[in-house]
Amino acid sequence: MINELKDSYGRALDYLRVSITDRCNLRCIYCMPPEGVQWKPHQNILTFEQIIRIVKIACGLGIRKIRVTGGEPLLRKGAASFLKELKTIHGIENVSLTTNGLLLGAYLDEAQNIGENVLPDSINISVDTLSREIYKKMTLCDNLHPQSILLLIDRLLEKQITVKINCVPVQSFNDDEIASLAELAKNKNIAVRFIELMPIGAASNLQFVSGAEVKKMIEKTFGALTPCDGFYGNGPAVYYKLASFTGKVGFINAVTHGFCGTCNRLRLTSQGFLKLCLSNTLGLDLKTLIAAGADDEEIAGAIIQAAAKKPRFHTLSNIYNEAEQHSESMSKIGG
Ligand code: SAM
Ligand code: SF4
Repeated sequence: MINELKDSYGRALDYLRVSITDRCNLRCIYCMPPEGVQWKPHQNILTFEQIIRIVKIACGLGIRKIRVTGGEPLLRKGAASFLKELKTIHGIENVSLTTNGLLLGAYLDEAQNIGENVLPDSINISVDTLSREIYKKMTLCDNLHPQSILLLIDRLLEKQITVKINCVPVQSFNDDEIASLAELAKNKNIAVRFIELMPIGAASNLQFVSGAEVKKMIEKTFGALTPCDGFYGNGPAVYYKLASFTGKVGFINAVTHGFCGTCNRLRLTSQGFLKLCLSNTLGLDLKTLIAAGADDEEIAGAIIQAAAKKPRFHTLSNIYNEAEQHSESMSKIGG
């Protein structure tokens, strides 16, 4: 099938990240201010029916992979049925979910009740620390041990779901746990990915740890990392094997290494704005277009035109160099 979603640099766009809520049950230090943010009223948020309509139109244009994210996506009522419906859309080859894991057990129970084959193909769980104390410092949640989230991994693997753990190393918080976090992939066929802290939203005053430093720390403990052959996952992560490991270790060097040249993604915010790039305000207000009564063909045409304007690079590296301020957090953009 022809992919009609191409930008002016020839990149084919086949991956859509869909945020279904701006709300969250955690206050990660790099994502949300401790007091939280003013949640958007429900009427400002796309309904699931509207999101499904947009996904179907985008699929007709070449989108093949959907990641459901937020805020915390599993907080939204009806998320399980929504994920089930996404799986039935003809042409969508991969449905994935990014979650902080707090409601993952309840979601798996609910999914079991609504039928077979309703779970995403892949689930990313964000866990930045193995320590209850540091977890409290990093998420402001004091009644949960992160290990209880990790206990769900086996349940997902039993169901043949690809599991990735996302960790954001932050200096003076979890940077001494890098090797222990990587070790989660030692005996399980999962990927542990280290994401460079992006200086957006609440993260602007925190210190990042570069992927290169993280790699060094892992190699010091476990020996040489060998690049994985072939393609794994939908995004910019680069994966490595360790001789004694069943799983993989991945790096998303969002700040230090530009992977924009192969960027294949668009983002739909929970308020219905199609964002062309993480660090750029360019995009298309689909919610307003839908409210104005646009038909599918008009929406498709507007998406094609918007996609063509995707910027060549993100500006995150410049932020560190030029102290440029970006106020939008990942939870707002759709992380
Ligand atoms: N609430 C879900 C979660 O935490 O997995 C999904 C949304 S969250 C915004 C998606 C991912 O973005 C998480 O892995 C989180 O660690 C990451 N993230 C948030 N803010 C970030 C930042 N400033 N730099 C790098 N990663 C960030
Ligand atoms: Fe919530 Fe995810 Fe942001 Fe943490 S990173 S505050 S879990 S949206």
